[in-house]
Amino acid sequence: MPHISQTLDQLTADIAAAAQSCGRPASAVTLLAVSKRQPVSAMRDAHAAGQRHFGENYVQEAIDKREHLADLNMVWHFIGPIQSNKTRDIANAFDWVHSVDRDKIAERLSAQRDPALPALNVCVQVNLSDEDSKSGVALADAAQLCALVARLPNLALRGLMAIPAALDSEAEQRACFAPLRQEFDRLRETLPTLDTLSIGMSGDYGAAIAEGSTMVRIGTALFGARPS
Ligand SMILES: *Cc1c(COP(=O)(O)O)cnc(C)c1O
Repeated sequence: MPHISQTLDQLTADIAAAAQSCGRPASAVTLLAVSKRQPVSAMRDAHAAGQRHFGENYVQEAIDKREHLADLNMVWHFIGPIQSNKTRDIANAFDWVHSVDRDKIAERLSAQRDPALPALNVCVQVNLSDEDSKSGVALADAAQLCALVARLPNLALRGLMAIPAALDSEAEQRACFAPLRQEFDRLRETLPTLDTLSIGMSGDYGAAIAEGSTMVRIGTALFGARPS
């Protein structure tokens, strides 16, 4: 395996090239390093190579990692499914939450966020693949949930997030992302704090960037396969 700094440089160059090939500046796309199940040593290496945004799926794993990495300046993103009995921990251990998909979760996160902290940055998760197993609000219901998040005192509405089903071709991937991008552009007319389109993973970040992604969430292509 090449050292993580080399992989990070290559990935950053790929992201910049994908952005520039559709007329967007490289700075328009932020890399979120998805470090779930990866050791803190790998996160430390990525931080040393300049990475600042890290995404985690499991609350307790992330809290433990934060303790071990407390000396580093990192931005912590929660991207996993949210159980309502975990909202207090999520509300206070993270800077961002990408996976808000129902009113009750938004209300609990706002009520439980320490008001002395800056507002918790929130993306509303949208289900683009219509599979019962996948979390996310229906695209038609995203506007209502965004409006609620924008009103809640300790939350800052930032974006929309989606995890589509895996598709093979870039054309299919783009066709899947396109309705989300249209809704994002439409919602921004009335919700000016919306500035984040959180789409794109290791297998589809090129398509996501072509469809306007501002934050790609990449695990495997950066850290290698996750230890089981
Ligand atoms: C695991 C995960 C990722 C990263 O997936 P890779 O295919 O390893 O890049 C991105 N987003 C979410 C929500 C995830 O759970």
